[in-house]
Parts: sequence; structure tokens; C-alpha cells
Amino acid sequence: MQEGINAGAPWASSGRQPKIAIVGAGMSGIAAVIKLRKAGYRNLTVYEKADRVGGTWRENTYPGLSCDIPSRWYSFRFALNPEWTHRFSYGPEIQAYLEKVARDFDVESAIRFGTAVKSLDYVVLPSEEAPKWRLVTEGGETSLYDVVISATGILHQPVMPDIPGLTSFEGAIFHSAHWDHSAELNGKRVGVIGTGSTAAQIIGDITSRVGEMVVFQRTPQWMVPLPQTEYSPGLKRLLRFLPFLQWLPYFFYFFAGLRTFGAATVGDKKMQERISQACLTNLAQNVPDRDLRARLTPDYQAACKRLILCSSFYPAISSENAELVTEKIQEIDAKGVCTEDGQHYELDVLVLATGFDPSAFILPTKVTGEKGLDLEEFWHRAPRAHRAVAMPGFPNFWMLEGPTGPVGNLSLITISEHQIDFVIQMLDKMKRDGHAAISAREESYVGYNDAMREALPNTVWMSGGCTSWYMDDSGLPNLYPWAPGRYLKSMRRPKFEEFHLRDEVAATASA
Ligand SMILES: Cc1cc2nc3c(=O)[nH]c(=O)nc-3n(C[C@H](O)[C@H](O)[C@H](O)COP(=O)(O)OP(=O)(O)OC[C@H]3O[C@@H](n4cnc5c(N)ncnc54)[C@H](O)[C@@H]3O)c2cc1C
Repeated sequence: MQEGINAGAPWASSGRQPKIAIVGAGMSGIAAVIKLRKAGYRNLTVYEKADRVGGTWRENTYPGLSCDIPSRWYSFRFALNPEWTHRFSYGPEIQAYLEKVARDFDVESAIRFGTAVKSLDYVVLPSEEAPKWRLVTEGGETSLYDVVISATGILHQPVMPDIPGLTSFEGAIFHSAHWDHSAELNGKRVGVIGTGSTAAQIIGDITSRVGEMVVFQRTPQWMVPLPQTEYSPGLKRLLRFLPFLQWLPYFFYFFAGLRTFGAATVGDKKMQERISQACLTNLAQNVPDRDLRARLTPDYQAACKRLILCSSFYPAISSENAELVTEKIQEIDAKGVCTEDGQHYELDVLVLATGFDPSAFILPTKVTGEKGLDLEEFWHRAPRAHRAVAMPGFPNFWMLEGPTGPVGNLSLITISEHQIDFVIQMLDKMKRDGHAAISAREESYVGYNDAMREALPNTVWMSGGCTSWYMDDSGLPNLYPWAPGRYLKSMRRPKFEEFHLRDEVAATASA
């Protein structure tokens, strides 16, 4: 710790542009660049470890990948897209959209591709007027920033299942997020471990062309049909000609999403019942076999786990070449998968649709805040934040899609856009009032998270009788427990009293 360095508000009071680092060039990072520039913040550097923008939609290339939020809503407000080909976009089309937006708004000129951030620490340096974030890349390069925005995503670090013998399998084996496109599927015996949204999309897409499909299910899932439709050339022409018409479906899906799936998760029992009924009807209509239907029927409440929107899974699992295995997996060997009842399933290809680490956020990047505060220790595998964007002890460090944001069945683009606007208001406040640093107040952070903890039992994630990837090591779901609309509203105008607005900060950073 180094005391006595010039305290003050260097960028805010000197009139220079703040130097801002953005980590990640997925949807959130792209939106951050565009909105920050529009608000007048132009000294931006985006660090992206891959060689293209896109994040999730660049990384995941599995067959059947599609967005379960309607395209007209899963779009940036500043770049509505008349060219969407389907009501629910397929992965490659979203990737192409993100690349186009990045090109059209010249986002790429701010990005350093192939540059992973290894560490960030909040430091006082004798050469600097006030504490800075010191950013070190995997390549060992060091730079200093006034402000850091983490846009590293929530579902980014794939989780491999802890099954004995996993590495002994001699066929093709890969995580769904690292799809091996060289692996032959046609006519092959393919196993899929997992039955979440990704697995449902993969199984629905490839079962008709594989020889055998063996699905290893730990927990059955609730599924509503995905009402997919292709948009006509006439509609696209109309929307190109009258672009403002795109706001109608944007707000229609926005409000429908909040009133249906959004409401069902946080206590609207009637809506939840309607969704359960829709799922049961879907199951009854698409799975004729009574025994299979029973094994696919969840014993917990709908929406307790992330609700799946998929129309292709039930027909696929009901087809002659598909088998649903509900016995627990005992081990994997060179030739396939053994279950606890002594069965052995010989396979050529094994797909691990086992999800992501939802507690990672920016980790494993090492982040050190004031007084040497280590983010990984601060979170302890139960990440929390104030309003999902800020934390005490981490001044001028903002997160997009950070912990406890609303992430249920709604467009995360909308969430990120609100969070960026919130951060911009914080920067404006610093500029206006000459503050050197802003971080969440300890008492605000604690109060906010205590209130969340009290509200969580009212949500279906806790009362619905399931465990899910939403739960972290605290035993609680890492989610916003109130209506998502309330979150969006709360982000429109920051309550500055919840934040520590400081003019003198030098003594609190690490040396
Ligand atoms: C398979 C799948 C399906 C999904 N489907 C939907 C859906 O239907 N609807 C929906 O709303 N959401 C869906 N999501 C959630 C989706 O992740 C978000 O909608 C959105 O893409 C998140 O964007 P992001 O920019 O915040 O993060 P990401 O897209 O994850 O981008 C993060 C970026 O940060 C980069 N990065 C991370 N760490 C570092 C580092 N240390 N240094 C440099 N760069 C780094 C990554 O390379 C990546 O490019 C899905 C997610 C997955 C995985």
C-alpha cells in the first residue's frame, strides 16, 4: 500500500477523456463501444481473446443452435434488423448480425483481437495523479486505465462432467461449446449427456441423420414449443421501407416476455400454471409412448430450471433410432458409456452438453480491487454485486451481465443496454462533479443482497422443487428475484446515494 499520492479527480476534473478498457467483444462489448462513443466517451480499448466479435454466438456452432428469444427483441435498439429471416434466429444469423453491427459502427477499430486479459488490479503509482486499473494481457503487456468495463459474459466457461473414464473414450468426444465439425455423424451411434436447452436443440437437429441417438438424462425438463416461422421477402421489404414498424414487434415481445415467463418465475402462480399446462400438452401431443412420456415428465414445477423452448426434441426422442437412458452414468470407457444398472452403450461420438460455469463471470481473470481485495475470494463461488453492475472495493469497475441480474427467458441484449446506459450516467456524474472514483457503498451492496435473499423463497427457482445451474455455492439462485421490469426501471436513473462518490482515493489502492 502506498500512501500520500496526489489525490484528486484527474480525468474528471482535468477535462480529458477517461481511458476506458472493455473486456470482451460479445454482444455486451459491442453495445458498450457504440453507446459510450455516442455519449462522447471515445478513448476506448476492447480486449477480446478470440479473433472475431460475437462471444456466445461465435463460440457455439453446434447443429440446431438457435435463440429462444424472438429475433425482433433479441436485437440492439440502435440497430433493429429488418433482414431477420426467422422469428427465432439461428446461431449463424445472430453471429452475422453482431459482425455487421460491429462493422457498421466501426467497433472493430477499438478492438484488440487475440488479446486475453490476464489480470486487473487497482493501483497507486507515483507517476499517476490517482489510482488506475492496471491491465495485464496474457502476452505480458501492461496498460493503465481510469475505468474498466467487464463484458465477459455469463455462460462462457464450459463445464466438463466429472465422470470416471471420461478421457478414455476412443471415439469423438467434445463439449457442445467446442463442436468438432470434423466428427462424422451420419449413420453413427451418437450419445448426448445432458438435457438442457443446448442438448434439446442438438438432439432435435441431428437425430434424423444419425444411426442411433442415445440421450443420457439426469433430470427431465419442461418444454414449450418454439413457434418458429420464416419471414417473407414482402415483410422484409416493408420493414426496410418503414423501419419504425419494427418497434411494434420489439415492444410486443418485450412486454409479452416480461408478463409471461418473467412473471411466472417470480410468483405469478396463474401464469406458472398456464405454462405448465402448455408444457404438458406439448408432451402429450408429441410423445405418443406412455412409458417414454412418464420418463420425460418433470417432478418439479415448470420454470424452476430455465424453461426450454423447443419443438424438435420430443419428436426426435420419440423416433425409432432414439433411446432415453435415465439410469445414472457409472463410467465412460474406450467404447462408450456404462450405467449403474450394468448396461453398456457403444458409441462413436459422445457430445457433452453439460453447460457452463455460471459463477465465473470475469474469472479466471485475476481482479484485485482496493486494499488488495481479490475478486475470487470476495465472491467465494457465490458472486454478488450491487444492481448486478458494481461492488464495494472495486472502484470504477463496472460489469455487464454481472451477478444477480435477470437472466431468465428474456432478451439479455435489453439487459446489457440498460446496464451500459447506467454506467454512462455514472461517468457523466464523475465528469460533472469531478469525482475520481465511484464504487458501490458497502451498506447498499449488503442491503440489496439481503433484500434479494429474503425475496428468493417467493421465486419458483427456490420453491419449485429443483436444483439448477442458477444455484451457486451459497445454495441460492444467482438471479434477480423480482419482476425483470423492476430491474430495468431501477437502472434507468441511478440512485447516487447508493454509491461511494469519491474525490480522494489514493490511499486505498494497492501499491
Ligand atoms: C448456447 C447458448 C445459448 C444461448 N441462448 C440464449 C438465448 O436464446 N437468449 C438469450 O437471451 N441469451 C442466450 N444465451 C446467453 C448469451 O450468452 C447472451 O444472450 C449474450 O450472448 C451474452 O453476451 P455477452 O457479450 O454479455 O457475453 P458473451 O457472448 O459470452 O461474450 C463475452 C466475450 O468476452 C470474451 N472474453 C471473456 N474473457 C475474456 C478475457 N479475460 N480477455 C479477453 N476477452 C475475454 C469472450 O471471448 C467473448 O467474446 C445463450 C448462451 C449460450 C451459451
